[in-house]
Formats: sequence, C-alpha cells, structure tokens
Amino acid sequence: TESLREKAMTIVHRLTDKGFEACLVGGCVRDEQLGRPVKDYDIATSARPEQVIALFERTVPTGLQHGTVTVIIGKRPFEVTTFRKEADYEAFRRPSEVEYIDSLLEDLKRRDFTMNAMAIDREGRLIDPFGGRADLQRGVLRCVGEAEERFREDALRMLRCIRFAAEYNLQVDGPTWEALIACMPLLRHIAMERVRLELERMLAGNDPNRALELLSRSRALEHVKRELKLAAAIGPDSITDLKRIARDELRWAYLYLRAGVSPAEAAEDMKTLTFSKQMMEEIKRTAAAADMLAHGLERLDRSSAEEEEYRRLWLRTALQYGRETLRGIRELMAADALWFAARCSSPLAAGAVTRWCDHGHGWLQTMPAGELSELSVTGQAVLERLKAKSGPWTGKLLNRLLELVALGELPNETEALLQTAEREYVTMQKKG
Ligand code: ATP
Ligand code: MG
Repeated sequence: TESLREKAMTIVHRLTDKGFEACLVGGCVRDEQLGRPVKDYDIATSARPEQVIALFERTVPTGLQHGTVTVIIGKRPFEVTTFRKEADYEAFRRPSEVEYIDSLLEDLKRRDFTMNAMAIDREGRLIDPFGGRADLQRGVLRCVGEAEERFREDALRMLRCIRFAAEYNLQVDGPTWEALIACMPLLRHIAMERVRLELERMLAGNDPNRALELLSRSRALEHVKRELKLAAAIGPDSITDLKRIARDELRWAYLYLRAGVSPAEAAEDMKTLTFSKQMMEEIKRTAAAADMLAHGLERLDRSSAEEEEYRRLWLRTALQYGRETLRGIRELMAADALWFAARCSSPLAAGAVTRWCDHGHGWLQTMPAGELSELSVTGQAVLERLKAKSGPWTGKLLNRLLELVALGELPNETEALLQTAEREYVTMQKKG
C-alpha cells in the first residue's frame, strides 16, 4: 500500500504535470527534517482552487476563502492551498483578504518560523530560502523576516512560538525572543478560544513544563484579553513533571490546584478560556474532591487515627464525587506527593501520602457500591415496603443506604437494605 507521503506526492505530480507549481510545505517538511512522524502532508500550489477542483476526482472545498481545497486520495484528505500572500492584517490577527500569487517564495515568506517555511518539490529536493534546516540543526526557533513585524501582523504567533519551542526542544533565537517580549501586550487581541487551543496543545505536548516556564518568563498569561487565575499557577514555583500525569484533564486540574484557587474560581477561569462544560465540571469535581480530602486529613489526629478512619474519608469522598474522580486524585497525589502532603495544615510525610493513596486505590476496588444504581434495591421497592409516597426524604434515605453499603457497614442485599430502610425511616420521622 501507498504511504501517506506517496499519496501526497501523487498530488504534487498531477499538478506539476499540468504545468502548475506544487510542493509539500509547512509542518510536514519540518517534521521530516526532524525525523519525527508526520501527521499530515500539506501541499502548496500555483493552481487556483477551481483548477485544483477540476483536476481531481474527489475534492471538498474546505477553506475556499483561504484558497484551500481538500483533495481525497485513497480515503485520506490532503489540504491543497494556492500560493498566497496575506494582504492586510486585521487587528493583529488573520489577514482580512488573501491575494493569490504565482511564487512559492512569496508564499513561504508569509509563514511564521523558518522551520515552517520550507518546501519539498516533486523531485524530493528541499527548498529552504530562510535557513530553516540550519536553524533546526542548531536547535533554534526563529521568525521568518523581522520578528517584531511578524508578531505585530499576527499576535497568535507568539503563543505558537512558545508551543513550538517546547514541543521541539528549541531555543528561541535572541531577536525573536526580544520581539516576543516587546509585543506581548498585543496578545489582548487574540480570542480566548485561540489562547485555550494553544495552551491545550502546550500542556498535552512533548514538554509541558518547558512551555509553562516560557509562558511564565514571557508573562504571556498576564497579557491575554481576560484575566486568568491560571497565571498564578505558572509562577516560579516548582511544579511537578506534568508528564507524570497521564490525562490532559488532570494536568489542568493539577495546575488549578497549584494556583491555589477554589473549585468555583477554577471553573470560572475555565469558562473564560471557553472550555467545554464537561471539561469544566471534571476539573471542578477534582479540585473539590482534593479539598475534601485535604480538609478531612487535617481533622484526623494522626497519632491515634485508625486506618479505618482514613478509609472512610477516602470512600466518602469517592461517594460524593464519583470513583473516577478519586482515581484521578490518586494519580495527582502520586505525581506530587510532596505538595499534597504540605497542603494539609499539619503536614504529612510525602511517603504517607503515597502509601495512603495506594491504600485508597485498594479501598475503591473493594467498595461494594458507588452510586444509587448499584444498590440492590430501587426507590420504588423501598416505597412499597414502607407503604409511603415519595418525598424529599426519599433521596436522603437512599443516599444513607448507599453510604452504609459503600463503607462496608451494610451488605448490598435486598432484604437487609429494606429492613434498614424501615429502621431509618422511623428515625427520620421521629426527627421530623
Ligand atoms: P502543527 O500542525 O503540528 O501545529 P504545522 O506547522 O502544520 O504544525 P499548522 O497550524 O497546521 O502548523 O499550519 C501549517 C503551516 O501554515 C505552518 O507550518 C506555517 O507554515 C503556516 N502557518 C500556520 N499558522 C501561521 C501563522 N499564524 N502565521 C504564519 N504562518 C502560519
Ligand atoms: Mg498542521
């Protein structure tokens, strides 16, 4: 079967056979030079979009306003973009109109960094007018042309700069870094959604800690459109190696915990960053569960508390926030036991935190039920046994049963549950 690159090259050949200029450009060339796997091959051509559409059997007009047509070869999509130059830059972001041009050189010139401004022609020759390969070889990230001008044209490039430097382990070239520092205030023109997308890619990338360090050194988060509490999390404080935390959501939760903001504030911040509600809820839950554990630990007298009390604290928290949340917390605590230990007012030893977490995992696995649907009775069955109509008390009663079962104090068996329900019902009625 044909590789992705071979498929891309058939597009280049088809276009050049018809007398157009065409080559592979951008990220794919960079990644090939670095010996990294290529995600997608992009093609640049002198052919106009309608000419591209006419030349291939299957095309999708995915970005006609930027001159982009997606060509499908053997079920794989390839973006074919007409050489262009970006006429006027509007409000420090994205050009207001594109102007098609006939020259590859001009097209490469509008690109952000030298490593992204290389091309490969139909013979496989590297076209590298700005010294991108040499920069990569000495490990340097550099703007094409005059850095300050390029950041003024499009402020998003500054965040891309930080992301690329971290992702590819590059030093930002002196003048490029100076221009970035000088242009930082322009970040206020970038939509928060774009900011989030870049931050997400940094955090999920190859070296998230380096990205945070560069964000901190450049004070980027202090310059974005809307104030972010997250800015406090990326201070000089030593945060743990984020790669020890597998899931992205948990990396975010960890940063907010480190920022020392309340779960509600974290959620507010994530809203500012236009995160999905689902992501927001997960982070908020994680932060709230971590709070519950930390406060619970503070209350336990460590000299005399029995393992049983630790177990109950862990399981109660699991009950309140869901077992999945607690699995995440275990991961966070293992990644930075020192910090979690110090967070309690009478600090635990880091070793104790780790041990406690490992126990916690075991406890979760033996937890007989973690949610109402796992109880061996339904609300309906309880109401029938009590000969009562449902009311606000029903949920309370069921949750009480769940707690008893979860903590291992009551077997998860129908008859035992119903009997306990009767007893609890009487007590509740007495209390009024
Ligand atoms: P990756 O997809 O891994 O982030 P990439 O280089 O493919 O890397 P894209 O955002 O997909 O990045 O853009 C493709 C190419 O378009 C880049 O390599 C670069 O040449 C150019 N480009 C993208 N965004 C900009 C920008 N804001 N300013 C100038 N050129 C850009
Ligand atoms: Mg790309």
